[in-house]
Amino acid sequence: MIQGYGLPVFPGVAIGSSVVYRKAQRSLPVSCGEPAVEQAKFDAARETAREQLTALFEKAKVDIGEEQAAIMEVQLLMLEDLDYLDAVAAAIQGGEAAAIAALDCGEEFAQVFAAMDDEYMNARSADIRDMSHRIYDILCGNTGFQLPEGSFLLVAEDLAPSETIQLPRERILAFVTRQGSSSSHTAILARTLNIPSLVQSDIPLDVAEDCQVLAVDGFTGTWYADPDEETMKLLLEKQAQAAASRQALEAYRGKESISKSGKKVLLCANIGCAEDAVAAIAADAEGVGLMRSEFLYLGRDTLPTEDELFEAYKKVAEIMGHRPVVIRTLDIGADKQVSYMGLEQEENPALGLRGLRICLTREEIFRPQLRAIYRASAYGNLSMMFPMVASVWELKAAKALCARYRAELEAEGVATKDVPIGVMVETPAAAVLAEELAKEAAFFSVGTNDLTQYTLAVDRQNAKLGQFYDPYHPALLALLGHIAKAANDAGIWAGICGELGADPKMTETFLKMGYTELSMAPGRILEARKLVCESEV
Ligand code: PEP
Ligand code: MG
Repeated sequence: MIQGYGLPVFPGVAIGSSVVYRKAQRSLPVSCGEPAVEQAKFDAARETAREQLTALFEKAKVDIGEEQAAIMEVQLLMLEDLDYLDAVAAAIQGGEAAAIAALDCGEEFAQVFAAMDDEYMNARSADIRDMSHRIYDILCGNTGFQLPEGSFLLVAEDLAPSETIQLPRERILAFVTRQGSSSSHTAILARTLNIPSLVQSDIPLDVAEDCQVLAVDGFTGTWYADPDEETMKLLLEKQAQAAASRQALEAYRGKESISKSGKKVLLCANIGCAEDAVAAIAADAEGVGLMRSEFLYLGRDTLPTEDELFEAYKKVAEIMGHRPVVIRTLDIGADKQVSYMGLEQEENPALGLRGLRICLTREEIFRPQLRAIYRASAYGNLSMMFPMVASVWELKAAKALCARYRAELEAEGVATKDVPIGVMVETPAAAVLAEELAKEAAFFSVGTNDLTQYTLAVDRQNAKLGQFYDPYHPALLALLGHIAKAANDAGIWAGICGELGADPKMTETFLKMGYTELSMAPGRILEARKLVCESEV
């Protein structure tokens, strides 16, 4: 048995086989022979890539239909691209190893495509990157992501949102990553899926790869590779106890979330897609307090169309019925990157072009989203809010666009409803300006993950800064109190949708401050209701 530790992000015990996800790493040692040898290696790898892509294309045609499968066909065509092949040959002649030449030339071409003034060509940049990474992986012997049948624990150095989106969620028993933080998106996904998970763990990827059984104790933050008999017995006991506690919380299903002195709170779910809305209903959520709409943009090669967005929002609205649903408009940028938007690499992405900043400067991105939200408004109880607001003018500008696109739809004869517009308070500027913003907003929802990051100037993604990322910091509590007071004085509601919203230590404090909505991973709702119902506040 080998054991180690990590930062637990969701309690529980998971036991099963492990799968290790390794990214193509430019830093892997690559041997380099004579140019003729390297060229022969490249040609052979290109042939293997062709076979793999042909097989994938045939499978995709059956699984997802011919139109969607066309992406594989595009990559097959790129394998024949003479400019790319010439560039690789020249790099190999210049002394590069085949693997590095394939990867670097692919990246160069991808950047050229991304910079073109044509949406279709921009989207091809991701295809080129994928294709060159495939050749690189073949040359380096990277087997990539080989998923076994059945369920498994997923181990990785780190996982980007665009990677987690492609995972078969229902088969994952736990995440164990070496990087990441408690507010990273892997952690958020783990909570949404109710699976015990560790970030910042010390698990060597080779150990995870070689073991027969991996176990994760999300209560203590411990992982065990091939646990011995005694440990296994204890883990199974803990697993049974956790199931019993979950069962006990069932007594709160269907109850009103109201404190002993009569303070009513709406306990809502954070979701990313329609599938999560089903989980929200199953978890007895009273609404959706945060739909992270950017998940509709991740893990694909082109912008979703207005119709695709409309269908997704409509589905969520219909699943939630009369219950309120707050859609957060696109929050791409920082740790959530998509190659097809052609966004430049930034020195400081968390402080860069992200969230509402992209939407206000890229009409072709914002217009379809806002129109889709208004079209879907007819099917449920929708509100929307904007991420990363720092100034009143940004809110006013975004509201003006909402009015314009709604009027456009009305003129086209499309039925829409009023959609209350709120602000996601996640910059210190928005918190300080809460009184001003409250004059223009229908509600506030506090994103404590980013508000903590920006108030304390601590990168939420940086595993080494864990001890400095303090969501209970007095500066943060002062801002939280200020935001709730400004909302209450203005007669609008205020909620918390960051990870702190589910923190049992904070429930009473939030009630005292005047928050009337808490939004969290669906699996936390019954526990929060128990706390609200037992509170004297
Ligand atoms: C937040 O910042 O608290 C939040 C809820 O948004 P995200 O985690 O998606 O940035
Ligand atoms: Mg945020």
